[in-house]
Amino acid sequence: MNSPAAIAPTRPLANGAAIPQIGLGTWPMSNAEAEVAVAQAIEIGYRMVDTAYKYGNEEGVGRGLRASGVPREELFVTSKLNGEWHGVREAQQAFDDSVKRLGVDYLDLFLIHWPMPWQDRYVQAYEGLTKLLADGRVRAIGLSNFKPAHIERVLAATGVTPDVDQIQLSPQVTRDASRAYNSEHGIVTQSWGPIGQGGDLLADPSVTEIAQRYGRSPAQIVLRWHLELGLVPIPKTTSPERMRSNIEVFDFQLTPSEVAALSALDRGEETADDSDTVGH
Ligand code: NDP
Repeated sequence: MNSPAAIAPTRPLANGAAIPQIGLGTWPMSNAEAEVAVAQAIEIGYRMVDTAYKYGNEEGVGRGLRASGVPREELFVTSKLNGEWHGVREAQQAFDDSVKRLGVDYLDLFLIHWPMPWQDRYVQAYEGLTKLLADGRVRAIGLSNFKPAHIERVLAATGVTPDVDQIQLSPQVTRDASRAYNSEHGIVTQSWGPIGQGGDLLADPSVTEIAQRYGRSPAQIVLRWHLELGLVPIPKTTSPERMRSNIEVFDFQLTPSEVAALSALDRGEETADDSDTVGH
């Protein structure tokens, strides 16, 4: 094995686990793509991989984890349950199905993929996750695409702090209210779409100017922005070169004014996917 590009440091989570500060996103990879990408990423130094039932690639992710040869306990595997499993019993079933497809005994992090408030079942789904946590089947539990009002309800019902809230977040969608709420409650905010999902973010002059200043790629600058704000980004790529450069962001820092210049690219909460009306 070549020496890893970088191994991300970890951050402590509310319920006692520790999460790597960068992970590999796997949507939209097929099983075959995920198998190759996950093994490559782990060889490069990634220790966290993000998947979901909905991505249809848990088997491929699992094959990649095994192909890497890195012991399971050194890896951090996240999956997510879909809307049809919002319920205490249903969440156990979703967990059993996910670990079976992945070929693992436990998950490091299990998330409710979307709140889907029109079903009004996410509180029960979260109760199911707290049971999995208490039973030691998962190391950490959490939410995805939950807004503060949704989180208030699960906290009131269970008193168990979610370890993570994974939300759409980048310099173009800074999600200030969610970030403030999450950090106030000891919830780590994980960023999906962290480098702008192939849109125009990486070509923005505010980004490219800073990139030039540091001799870094635009993606590295944006990923560093997440780290400066205490966020945990999960950039997706199938390119080993990009995987390598995306994780080589622990050897430089941005100044507060550079962070502010990037945050100024925010286009507003209304440009984020609205989890009160969309989800699965
Ligand atoms: P990202 O912001 O990670 O963008 C991915 C895109 O950026 C791909 O087109 C990729 O292309 C490109 N890219 C990657 N690295 C670089 C680089 N260094 N320079 C230039 N371009 C680059 O968006 P995602 O939507 O993929 O989000 C990341 C992950 O978050 C997903 O993979 C998934 O795991 C998760 N997610 C969760 C959601 C949720 O509801 N919880 C919703 C959406 C995503 P290429 O692959 O060709 O390199």
